[in-house]
Amino acid sequence: MQRLLRESLDGFAADLGGTKIAAARVARGIVEERLQTATDGKAGPDAQLATIAGLLQKLGHAPGAPLGVAVAGRIDGEESWHAVNRGILEAVQGFPLASALERIVGAVTCCNDAAAAAFAEAHFGAGRGCRHFAYLTVSTGVGGGIVLGGQLIQSQNGLAGHVGFVSSPFGRNACGSGRYGTVESTAAGRAIAAEAAAQGHAEADARAVFAAAAQGQAWAEAIIEGSAKAVATLIADLATILGLDRVAIGGSVGLADGYLDRVRTALAEEPELFRVELARAELGHDSALLGALALQRLQAG
Ligand code: ADP
Repeated sequence: MQRLLRESLDGFAADLGGTKIAAARVARGIVEERLQTATDGKAGPDAQLATIAGLLQKLGHAPGAPLGVAVAGRIDGEESWHAVNRGILEAVQGFPLASALERIVGAVTCCNDAAAAAFAEAHFGAGRGCRHFAYLTVSTGVGGGIVLGGQLIQSQNGLAGHVGFVSSPFGRNACGSGRYGTVESTAAGRAIAAEAAAQGHAEADARAVFAAAAQGQAWAEAIIEGSAKAVATLIADLATILGLDRVAIGGSVGLADGYLDRVRTALAEEPELFRVELARAELGHDSALLGALALQRLQAG
């Protein structure tokens, strides 16, 4: 793979997810300052972009500075942005992301958030030294990025790597993607909250379910284990198809205390051949930010 040095990253990045929008100023590959605000999932794309622009302005961004922007959803070959799960970012259904951003903040490289994170982890994080590597984010949804032989797998329709939309033996619900029983519909932060609500814990978001599990509440532990099992099965499936050397897990659910251990425990139930090595995303919550800027760097040459 083309060697990209983390120290070569200087500029700005933004990461728009279903729950939060983060932005950062990066110097020599280090996040110097990071700002974050809640995502308004119902807002249209122009409003989402205005929020990104506001964060970048506070960080001192000026047009012309290197800028990478990562977003949930797919970006197709025409640089049009579409939500895949229509329950998350519901107003984003084909929007000229790069050109609209360029008008308000200047030149920018746009990419999917999990693809960006996979790229950064492969170059500077948990995927270093791997030939075939995948990154999974367990966050509002379940996203993924695949790096094979150093190449980030991308497709003309922008769907490649959206591994949260494969079907799961544990899936029992419809998914906002239009598919039934996807990994996302059973393992994501949204799914954890929905399952808690179905069991009478209507106020519990995923963070509260983790807190309840930490206090020994069996209902909460069972929900989190269910999520971890679905993710472990997905990992074994991906390892079978792609011959992965390692899988890294990120996202606020993926990085939550004990989640990776639960995935490890669930993966240990698989026959040995399917137990790929697991790692925590080394760049933590900054993977997608650093990846977006790294992809910008690569595009700029
Ligand atoms: P995004 O999807 O916007 O990238 P995150 O990676 O932060 O954002 O994922 C958001 C999901 O993670 C939500 O479902 C939220 O409830 C859950 N979450 C946030 N913090 C925690 C935590 N400390 N422990 C477990 N779940 C968390």
